[in-house]
Amino acid sequence: MRHLTMINDTSHTQPIRRIAVIGSGIAGLSAAILLKNEGHQVSVFEKSRGPGGRLAAKRVADGSVDIGAQYFTIRNPRFLDLLNQYAGADTFARWEGRLGHQQVDGHWSAFHDEPRYVGVPRMTAITRALSRHVMIVTETRISGMRREDGQWWLEDSAGTRHGAFDRVLITAPPEQARALLAASSPTLPQKAVDRQLAGIVPCWALAVRFAEAPDWPFDGMRPNHPALFWIANNASKPGREGQGHWWVLHASADWSRAHIEADQDEVARELLAAFRDVTGQQLPVSEWLTHRWLYARSENTDSPGHLWYPEAGVGLAGDWLDGGRVEGAFNSACGLVDAMTKET
Ligand code: FAD
Repeated sequence: MRHLTMINDTSHTQPIRRIAVIGSGIAGLSAAILLKNEGHQVSVFEKSRGPGGRLAAKRVADGSVDIGAQYFTIRNPRFLDLLNQYAGADTFARWEGRLGHQQVDGHWSAFHDEPRYVGVPRMTAITRALSRHVMIVTETRISGMRREDGQWWLEDSAGTRHGAFDRVLITAPPEQARALLAASSPTLPQKAVDRQLAGIVPCWALAVRFAEAPDWPFDGMRPNHPALFWIANNASKPGREGQGHWWVLHASADWSRAHIEADQDEVARELLAAFRDVTGQQLPVSEWLTHRWLYARSENTDSPGHLWYPEAGVGLAGDWLDGGRVEGAFNSACGLVDAMTKET
């Protein structure tokens, strides 16, 4: 079943163009809001049941647990403005957790001092709130794009056509963005996307609920362990009090690649064993869940920020084009909207 939601149209300038945004992660929603503020008519298409993309949380009995992005920075004042104005100051807060990384000799040292933020009471609170400011069509996977008389028509996987649009923004991860470019008519250049593909890494995520709080000095950490990239005490984040002692373990890229087809029991068993190796904690686990991210993060360092093809009226934005993190996704969307605005 599809849901069409139109909420809070706060636009105050003349509509100029009809624009389709594919994907409702932080990049897609930020771009949609910025374009709407410029007076454009924007429709967001999302293949999943709800917005958020990799700002993700899974429901558990007493609350939820963050299984994708763990925290984010706000270095760009425009990002802070967007969050305050459209997500609302109550949807995000500083995470004051003790964060550390383990050196090759096994010693731990603290992360550098910088404000780090999380969604409250879960990561998706931010994207849920942002999505209320745009028209979003969920459960609709765009599978092709066709240009007719200078305008774009989108086709979804159920065969329905959406349009016509003057501009299309693709904010899907690169593998999916590439498939869309290849399926468009006329086809669009794919080389710039191809260059980014090699740096995209997968990640197995495991969330475990301990019967009691582990006695451990860090709430978030980068261990020096071949299987583990990240460990976090979900309960230490603001707004998650009283939801049980949930911890999140993210496997390293190499381990995830080597276990990409492993079953969930094996993933849970091995990552929990790695956690016990790192911390020495032997507490029993009362519940667990896993999630496999095929396109988790970008390790590219030479990304162009965004891609904009003015002759075609098609742009691409997303974390993978701008440093590979939540704030990078916002920066990429901003850069693309700025480029489009200059052109119009
Ligand atoms: P996404 O969030 O991936 O959004 C793309 C959207 O497009 C998705 O909702 C998808 O469903 C939709 N979509 C794709 N194809 C189609 C289609 N054909 N039709 C319609 N919709 C489509 N970042 C940090 O800053 N800090 C962290 O601690 C951190 N940890 C992470 C841990 C993990 C395990 C993962 C997976 C990511 C982590 N990240 C972290 C990265 C961060 O989550 C991303 O950088 C950011 O969320 C990407 O936003 P985005 O909008 O570019 O892409």
